[in-house]
Parts: sequence; C-alpha cells; structure tokens
Amino acid sequence: MNHTDENRRKVIKTLVLAGFGLHIVGCTSPVEPKEKIKSTPISDKDSTAIEKIEDEILSNNVTYFTQDNDEFSKLGTYFNLHTQKSPAIIALVVNAEGVSEAILHAKELNLPVSVKSGGHSFEQFSSNTGGLVINLSLLNEMKWGNNNELIAGSACLLREIYDFVLPAGRLLPAGSCGTVGLGGLTLGGGYGLFAREYGLTCDHLLEATFVDGNGKIHKVDQNHPIMWALKGGGNGNFGVVTSFKMKTQPIPTQFNTTKFKAYKLDSIQAKELFKTWFDNAYLLPGHCFSAFVLNGRTLTILVTYFKDKSSELESMEAALSPICDKTTTSNTIDIPKALKRYYGITHPIYFKNASAGYYSKFSEIEDCIDDVLSTVVTTPGLIYQVNTLGGKIASSNFESSSCYPHRSYNYLSELQSYWNEGETSKKEMLLRAFTKVQDLFYANGNRAQYRNYPSIGFPDWEKSYYGDNYSKLQEIKKKYDSDNTIRHDQSIKQADET
Ligand SMILES: Cc1cc2nc3c(=O)[nH]c(=O)nc-3n(C[C@H](O)[C@H](O)[C@H](O)COP(=O)(O)OP(=O)(O)OC[C@H]3O[C@@H](n4cnc5c(N)ncnc54)[C@H](O)[C@@H]3O)c2cc1C
Repeated sequence: MNHTDENRRKVIKTLVLAGFGLHIVGCTSPVEPKEKIKSTPISDKDSTAIEKIEDEILSNNVTYFTQDNDEFSKLGTYFNLHTQKSPAIIALVVNAEGVSEAILHAKELNLPVSVKSGGHSFEQFSSNTGGLVINLSLLNEMKWGNNNELIAGSACLLREIYDFVLPAGRLLPAGSCGTVGLGGLTLGGGYGLFAREYGLTCDHLLEATFVDGNGKIHKVDQNHPIMWALKGGGNGNFGVVTSFKMKTQPIPTQFNTTKFKAYKLDSIQAKELFKTWFDNAYLLPGHCFSAFVLNGRTLTILVTYFKDKSSELESMEAALSPICDKTTTSNTIDIPKALKRYYGITHPIYFKNASAGYYSKFSEIEDCIDDVLSTVVTTPGLIYQVNTLGGKIASSNFESSSCYPHRSYNYLSELQSYWNEGETSKKEMLLRAFTKVQDLFYANGNRAQYRNYPSIGFPDWEKSYYGDNYSKLQEIKKKYDSDNTIRHDQSIKQADET
C-alpha cells in the first residue's frame, strides 16, 4: 500500500468512526472532537462500513486528510493568523474530477464545503470549522493558449503568474501582493496598478472549468449563464473554478512612480492633504494609479504610471508637493523589478483588514471624514487607504458582462491594522478604532463594499457586496448549488433561505 492509499484509509476510518458513514440528511452538527474519534474502538460492523466507503471514495483525483495527518496543518495554512478555523477534512484535489468527488463526498457526509486557492481571504472564508475544505494548491500550472491567453490553475499565486507572463512580454492586470491566489482574486473582482487602463482581473476571464456545488463539471465561456456570476461573485458561492483562461495585455515599456510623504499630521492637516488628493486623483488618466495611505500620523501618497507623464499628474504634483514634507520619483524600464516592490509580506501575519466603502465625490464622506481622520491620526498603526478606480473599470461592456456592481465609483477605501503575536492590548486598541471608523462610515450611509475585502461585521453585506445583483445571484445559487453545499458566513444564500 503506498503512502497516499494509507492516508485515505486512515481518513475513511476516522470518518466512519465519527458516524459519517450514516449519510444523515439534514444534520448540521459540527464534527466530533478528534480526541473522541480516536478513542473509539473499531468493531466488525465499523470495518464493513469502512470497506464500503473505501470503495466509494478511493480515487486518484483527491486525497483526504484529517487533523491526525502530518500534512493537515501545512495544507491548512492561511495568511491571516487572526481568523483561524478548524476544518474536519481537507480534500487535496488534482483536477476538476477530484473537486467533483470531494463535493459529492461532503454532501454524503452533510458537511459544508469551503474552497482554498491562495488562502488570503481576510475573514478566512476559504476555511471553516467542522466542514470540508477543498484545497486547490496542486492546481498551480500555467500554459499559453492562442492569442497570448494565459491558462492557469486556480492556486497560481500572483508572483508566479508575473514570473510566467512578464518575460513573455505580457501582463495580467491583477493585484499587487505576490502571494494572493488567482482564484479568489479573479472571482471577487481583482484590481491593481493596471485596472484603470485595462479593467479588473475578472474582466480578463474568457473561459473556465467550473465544478458546481452539485458536483457537475462545466466548461464555461462568455455565453454560459454562470460566467456573469463568476466575475465578481464567484468566490466561495456556487462551486469551484479549477482552471482559468485569461486575456493578457502587452507589458508596458516604462514604470514610474511619484511618492509624497507627510509626517506628524493632525487631523486638520490630514484633511487638507486628503481633500487636495481627492480632488485631483480621479482626473488622472487610465495608465495612472494612486493611493492615499494614512498610517496613524504618517501619510504616503503613491502615484504609479506607465506612460509619459500627463498634465493632470503635473497639476496634482503641483498641488501636493508644497503641502507635503517630501516628494520622490522613480523611473524604470525593468517592469518585473518594479512590480516586485509591491509584493509585500509573504508569510502569515496577524491582521484585520476590510473594505471601508466606495465613493465618488467628497460630499459623500464630508460629514464623517473629520471623525474618521481624527480616529486614524490618534491610533498608531491604524491605516486608512483610499485607491483610485474609474477609467476602464467603469466600462459599460464590463458592467453588463459581470456581476461586479461598483463600477461607477471613483474611489475604493480600506482599513488595515497589523499586530504581532501576544500584542493583545495593541490588537484590542486597533480593533476598537477599526470598528469605530466602520461605524462612522456606516452611519454616514457609505455602505457599498468590495467583496474581496470582506468584514464579518458588515450588517447588510449582501447589498454592500453585490448591490442590485444579489437577487439574481440567489437564483443562480439555487440552480448550481441546490443544497447550499458551498457556504461560509457571507456566501450567497438561496432566496428562500434565512
Ligand atoms: C496582503 C493582501 C493583499 C491584497 N491585495 C489585493 C489587491 O491588490 N487587489 C485586490 O483586488 N485584492 C487584494 N487582496 C484581496 C484578495 O483579492 C482576496 O483576499 C482574495 O479573495 C484572495 O484570494 P486567494 O485565492 O488568495 O484566497 P482564498 O482565501 O483561497 O480564497 C478567497 C475566497 O475565494 C474563494 N475561492 C478561492 N478560490 C476559488 C475557486 N477556485 N473557486 C471558487 N471559490 C474560490 C474562497 O472560498 C474564499 O471565499 C489582497 C489580500 C491580501 C491578504
């Protein structure tokens, strides 16, 4: 018996002893603690049941792991150490068939299914407690299709994708963090330094292999009804995308940045800088990206652009430079090196991040921004970041072909907070301020939120993430995941479900 078979047998035995062989319909209780499972003796009746289920689930397409397996904790590693969960089973799949088998098996056991690609979900919606996690980490191959199309497995990380496409003179407009997975990023939208010029990552999705929540495998293209839902609403809702065919863009020939810094700000100074940036940044042309990043009392304003400098950027620089402490610029033609600067931290960390609202005009936040900025400047380590949208993201073609609903906004904001293990009082201080700012925006009516920056605390998350598209998405959910097998705390619910 090889190592993999042995693993499977161990898992099957565990499952039978835990009562999973009984196929209890309608039972939603969590898995028994593993200590209890381990101490149960194997009877003849159990052995027969083990053999029966063994026949059912032995497969070359998927290997099941439980907490007893050495590989379990490695497969269960997630980027956010603040929101750890504890699944009963991890199903490591090698293809779409394996995903289908894992889903059917979870249905037999009446377990919820979560789906993990890069493991960067802020709220760890790619895991669960007591359920089954489909781990896609082996689906990380890339190849070229016709017309410079990238065909990539769901668990390819952005840095792997850039390493593959950039030397070939191509670019996939995606996020900047190198360890984010293609799966979650694309299915929730996906924006970054190139989105204003080319659209979101989901706007580059041409075809996909999709295993629905009923276990059926579909090859989907632009004409398939699920495609609209996958673009912005596909993460952890209806099924599992195993492979993506993505349109790519030509690599730019230059990459330039201007960075403004201002230190020791009070809230009045922060507001002046914010207003100046806000009134200028949305006017920048599509090849520019800009972010206003207020970290406690320190401000960084970043502008990146990959064509010649525009008059709009010159005006913005002229407005900001005199009121900032420092302005620096850089220019390069080494695009891979330039992008690597934004890859960020690669190892898991403790954090709480979340979308903090989309808006277009300053008047939409005017009534709460004083309190927001004064909370940020008096909370060291709390980060309020606002990013430019607009440009091609707002294209009406993209709007009609995707369920991503927030295309008309000029800005997307986010809150971030980080701490180290054991820094309990810092964590509590940050989370208190974090919630205060969330409450300020909510009370002010800023409710539209980015699906890829979720927060478990959003009261009306359905509308916030999906706007008016939510009810149509509920119908799609009913069709492709009729038993609500793929689910997490903020997954799309069927219309008749509470
Ligand atoms: C450090 C950091 C930087 C980030 N930077 C950016 C950025 O620049 N731009 C941006 O747009 N976003 C960014 N994000 C947000 C990121 O897009 C989301 O966290 C994204 O969902 C992560 O995808 P993942 O595959 O890594 O995560 P996972 O945790 O594996 O998955 C996230 C969600 O997608 C679902 N999912 C994953 N794969 C599949 C699949 N194949 N089929 C169905 N559902 C699936 C999961 O179930 C889960 O609900 C960043 C996040 C972090 C932590």
